[in-house]
Amino acid sequence: MRIEVLTIGDEVLEGQTLNTNGAFLGGHLFEMGYAIQKLSVLPDEPDAIRDAMHEALGRANLVITTGGLGPTIDDLTKGLGAECMGRQLKFDSHLYDELKKRYPESDALKNQALVPEGAILLKNKIGSASGLLLLSEEGSLLLLPGPPRELEPMFKEEAAPLLERHFPPENPSKTLRLSLCVTNELDLDPMLRSIRSAHPDAEIGIYPSYGTLQVRFRIQERFERLALWQKQIQEAFPTHFFFEPTIAAAVHKQMIEKKKTVALAESCTGGAISQRLTAIEGASTFFLGSMVVYSNEWKKRFCGVEESTLQRHGAVSRETVIEMAQGLLEETNADFALAVSGIAGPTGGSAEKPVGTVYLALAQKGESVDAGKLPITLRSRSSVIEYATQSALCALYRKIAYGAKSFS
Ligand code: ATP
Ligand code: MG
Repeated sequence: MRIEVLTIGDEVLEGQTLNTNGAFLGGHLFEMGYAIQKLSVLPDEPDAIRDAMHEALGRANLVITTGGLGPTIDDLTKGLGAECMGRQLKFDSHLYDELKKRYPESDALKNQALVPEGAILLKNKIGSASGLLLLSEEGSLLLLPGPPRELEPMFKEEAAPLLERHFPPENPSKTLRLSLCVTNELDLDPMLRSIRSAHPDAEIGIYPSYGTLQVRFRIQERFERLALWQKQIQEAFPTHFFFEPTIAAAVHKQMIEKKKTVALAESCTGGAISQRLTAIEGASTFFLGSMVVYSNEWKKRFCGVEESTLQRHGAVSRETVIEMAQGLLEETNADFALAVSGIAGPTGGSAEKPVGTVYLALAQKGESVDAGKLPITLRSRSSVIEYATQSALCALYRKIAYGAKSFS
């Protein structure tokens, strides 16, 4: 089964719109057991689209397009698709009646009710452009709208079941995704290599993302192996696993389950950790608040950091974050207090403390503070902040989920 995707639109080609439709289709088709052989971006030009459709239909069993299905002058895909498949456009009065219930009558709307002969219609709940599936032995064409908020539900609800019916996936596969609070992908690499050499049929991917990483296994048979590999990795990293889509969601779930509360003192992250937690509804159950103590003055005033500590060790130091976390814990009576201080750059670094130096401390009632330096080698401001944010969430998660310390 060969699938090609043509994403159509000048704004995508010119870099004004990220090609998220390509990524979305790639991901979903892959999950369903298909693979995209080719993904192209095309301008809103009839010749370019016509040529690309012809060529792709010459190679592929199924060609999927996104974009240009609307009623405006630059929307060419439907007419060209019909032409390439040798179908006439016919007015579908039933479809027009349906559209009239949602939109005022107009010529543009009539245009939306023109359908290539023999096309299967895919409902668009958001916009006016129906998706269209044109089946043919010589190569089928699936036309989908450009706006992601129209394309995504249409694909999931309408296109995916149609594809499964008309193009049963040849190699049903199973994918296992494991998310870990592990900062260095090389820590896992030897284990993954040994799995790969014992099972050459396994597709294995490792995707680091700022202090967390995802491992993905995909196999087409003997699916029971996935559970074994998960167990093997879990044994090697017993306190690193999380099971929610994001580390913030994992913290959120644990906090609520264990009925704990947290307070934050953020310096270099400037509220980013707090933002991540409060973006999820229900955060008020466990999140007491965050102090963005950016200046030394505020670190002293609101977290009780000693002037002498700042003098001796500096604001970016293990000693300072420990005092920040302890001060906050006493002040707020939270179960956990988390403090971060670092140099996000681009200025402010030194030979001793370069940009990317970030210290983190996690204090818990009745326990010694877990504190240390994060292993950050990134140097751009946004990546240092992102890494520090994710690492702070990882430290909190590992503590509450597993009782694990992040620093020895
Ligand atoms: P409409 O009825 O809105 O005109 P359409 O199917 O004709 O829908 P386009 O006009 O091609 O779609 O694109 C509409 C909008 O959808 C674009 O302005 C862009 O924001 C978004 N879009 C188009 N293609 C993509 C893509 N490949 N990835 C992400 N977004 C896209
Ligand atoms: Mg359009």
